Amino acid sequence: MTELIDGKQIASEIRLSLKSKIEKLTSKPGLAFILIGNDPASHAYVKMKKKGCLETGIHSESFFLDQNITEQELLDLIQKLNKDPKIHGILVQQPLPNHISSKKVIETINAKKDVDGFHPINVGKALLGEEDGFFPCTPFGILRLLKAANIDLTGKHVVIIGRSNIVGKPLGAMLIQKKPFLNATVTYVHSKTKDLHMHCKMADVLVAAIGIAHFVKKSFLKPGAIVIDVGINRVTSEEKSRIVGDVDFDDVHDMCSYITPVPGGVGPMTIAMLLENTYKSFLMTCD
Ligand code: NAD
Repeated sequence: MTELIDGKQIASEIRLSLKSKIEKLTSKPGLAFILIGNDPASHAYVKMKKKGCLETGIHSESFFLDQNITEQELLDLIQKLNKDPKIHGILVQQPLPNHISSKKVIETINAKKDVDGFHPINVGKALLGEEDGFFPCTPFGILRLLKAANIDLTGKHVVIIGRSNIVGKPLGAMLIQKKPFLNATVTYVHSKTKDLHMHCKMADVLVAAIGIAHFVKKSFLKPGAIVIDVGINRVTSEEKSRIVGDVDFDDVHDMCSYITPVPGGVGPMTIAMLLENTYKSFLMTCD
């Protein structure tokens, strides 16, 4: 029997718990959004994140900047927000225009306000298993989903398809930590891996973070595998547009023990972790 891991429900419980903690505060955590240009998907993501702030009582400020803004103007804004005591988290929505260096932007954000968890200091802390930084929101959300489903990863073989800096790489680093519920054995596979199927078929837990709609089919899985679908892909058929994952849900679902749906799996958890990181940043400032 396949169990669906309901990320929407788990994220909603996390938001409710945050809301009740934030209600009791005399001052509020604050999150600044910076969005450059007119990419509709980026605008949709920021809108959802702002809605999360509103629901939990996090103060948010948005900076919608022209596509042609210079790199220096953007860095100056980040520096200003680094010093703003009302702001505990700074999120610069990716992707950035080609003339702006993503590396410079990430490194300009004060690591203590880097609630996306992309700054090299936070990446290093995640790798070292230190808890006083910020874990990147999507891998952190996946950990919390597994925990909520009571899946102990100790000794389990997790195969991660995709090695991006925001999902695949940090996820592996987090799952391999010598900590309760973690202690996984991790294999990364990617676009240059030989015999990808063979590796995937050995997975107790298969994580798909590729960015190709319906890439993972039944033939990739060992019976009873746990499948985590990170993908968000827009596909259009018969003039209707919808979001699908990197996993072909209909093909695989009766072969897994657990599976996350798309939408309603990892996506809502990413936003919930952003809100948690902002709250954590606020608490660390108060210390
Ligand atoms: P990315 O493009 O940075 O990385 C994709 C990875 O997939 C690369 O490491 C590449 O080596 C690998 N890959 C590509 N083609 C492959 C192939 N044919 N075989 C094996 N590996 C292959 O993407 P990303 O930012 O990690 O995102 C991955 C997916 O997750 C996308 O669909 C993205 O929209 C989604 N995403 C979702 C969330 C969420 O909150 N649910 C957050 C971030 C990303």
